[in-house]
Amino acid sequence: DVDTDDCLREYRHLFSPDILAGRGAFITGGGSGIGFRIAEIFMRHGCRTVIASRNLQRVSEASKKLVAATGQQCLPLSVDVRQPQTIVAAVDEALKEFKRIDILINGAAGNFLCPASALSFNAFKTVIDIDTVGTFNTSKVLFEKYFRDHGGVIVNITATLSYRGQALQVHAGTAKAAIDAMTRHLAVEWGPHNIRVNSLAPGPITGTEGYRRLGGRFAEEASQFDMIPLRRAGNKTEIAHSTLYLASCLSSYVTGTTLVVDGGCWLTSANNFPAMLDFWTAGANKNQ
Ligand code: NAP
Repeated sequence: DVDTDDCLREYRHLFSPDILAGRGAFITGGGSGIGFRIAEIFMRHGCRTVIASRNLQRVSEASKKLVAATGQQCLPLSVDVRQPQTIVAAVDEALKEFKRIDILINGAAGNFLCPASALSFNAFKTVIDIDTVGTFNTSKVLFEKYFRDHGGVIVNITATLSYRGQALQVHAGTAKAAIDAMTRHLAVEWGPHNIRVNSLAPGPITGTEGYRRLGGRFAEEASQFDMIPLRRAGNKTEIAHSTLYLASCLSSYVTGTTLVVDGGCWLTSANNFPAMLDFWTAGANKNQ
């Protein structure tokens, strides 16, 4: 994989190259990290993409790279998932351009390390607003504008943080757990509209903002990856391939579930509160 927000230098198809041919995907957070690689892999399989986040310059630059590498169409748009009217405007523009949106990837999120005791009320609320409320807002707009009448697929990018109460992550863990619940609720209510809704929960993924901010390098140096059953971090392409599975007809009878893509990490990795607190005190908090 490539650690920066750039396309893969070479790519060999594992899935059928036309598995998403003629489809359109709306990817929040598609300008960077995991969302960028999901956009690339989808485009390499025939999908047109909308990549949407707050920073228009970021998604515009990302879109140029994606189009150059894949030859597919990519529309960069500005949205703040906390503000439904910005999503409505973006979805209207996307439908005007592509006429269809078959897939929604809710990837937009905010995160940082912070012990609950030092977390401000506002910081907690902001993460819930972006991750949880933002996922609901975007899903609801897509439902009303397109999925209700045409069916669709939603993949929510969540996390395993809440499974064992990961230290310094009460805000993100709570937000992502609520999204996993939302996945099941929406799968039940929207299944009759031929809408599948699933979550994908990545483990530590190299070449991402999450990895840089949340101590992936620290864990690597501290040999904590020896604790992971597969003995390593994952990469963005691995997450994108699992997302492709969930977004494509390969998973046509899969809904209301969470696919954990973490090399078995959450089962065995250390959740060492004192060590994480030391790490945070030593400087991780300066990046917030
Ligand atoms: P990232 O590059 O920071 O991705 C987050 C994206 O969300 C950015 O593109 C950002 O773009 C966008 N965003 C943030 N606030 C937004 C808002 N209010 N409205 C619209 N877009 C917003 O981080 P990443 O590490 O690749 O993470 C991608 C997803 O995977 C996240 O959901 C994360 O929680 C999840 N995840 C990552 C890891 C990991 O190891 N990296 C592990 C588990 C789960 P703008 O700043 O332009 O808005």
